Amino acid sequence: MKILKIDHLGIAVNSMEEGKSFWSGILGLDFSGTETVAEQKVTTGFFPVGDSEVELLESTAPDGPVAKYIEKRGQGIQHVAFRVENIEEALAELKAKGVALIDQEPRIGAGGAKIAFLHPKATHGVLVELCQRDD
Ligand code: ZN
Repeated sequence: MKILKIDHLGIAVNSMEEGKSFWSGILGLDFSGTETVAEQKVTTGFFPVGDSEVELLESTAPDGPVAKYIEKRGQGIQHVAFRVENIEEALAELKAKGVALIDQEPRIGAGGAKIAFLHPKATHGVLVELCQRDD
């Protein structure tokens, strides 16, 4: 498996507007817009930082994974995403190594990226996302 870089940090927020006013308004990061991923009940907002991005996650429903995360652990860093060269290959390698996965197969996330999550019990508590995209 080849990991190319940290693609983004996923940060759970109660409010995209409040998040934006900090990350963009105070820190001065560019904001590249929001996208709602209906299947995940989440609206994402991206703030490019050099070669990586900050991804804010605002739940669109009280029973969505981000709402549940905030309920349990509060706002904050929810996942770390690594860009991989080939996500199918990476998942096959992890399965062969016995790593617990949330997603057995890649699915489509924000920006049309192929994404898959590893189970936090396999990573000492960090929700790790793999993603593959072409840009
Ligand atoms: Zn993500």
